[in-house]
Amino acid sequence: MELRDTDRALVQAATAVAKLRCRSQRHTVAAAARTADGRVFTGVNVHHGSGGSCAEPVLVGTAATQGVTALETIVTVADRGREVVPPCGRCQELLRDYFPALRVIVGPVDALRVVPLAELPSEAGSATAG
Ligand SMILES: [Zn+2]
Repeated sequence: MELRDTDRALVQAATAVAKLRCRSQRHTVAAAARTADGRVFTGVNVHHGSGGSCAEPVLVGTAATQGVTALETIVTVADRGREVVPPCGRCQELLRDYFPALRVIVGPVDALRVVPLAELPSEAGSATAG
């Protein structure tokens, strides 16, 4: 699927948060997601030896605090020019349970595309945990 203007705006939002807020080893990845009615939520990962959290669950919790339980599209961007990264395996599982119809923006920045969450190849590990 090709990117809509709103998808490009979402990538910009996540990139801006990554640049502004991911400036230490504690926060290295930012995620942004949009609801069907256009609200945007963002989150950063929380890196810690106790386990911490990827940016996606932080974002889901942020949306939930605003009463939002349905997200349409998500993108995750890593700090220091590491570009768009897919959700890790654990986050894919979480997102599938919470938002089975979620669209995910993936790919290199010059060739981004949108894929249904269900079609993302499962990835082991926690690449987005930073
Ligand atoms: Zn993750």
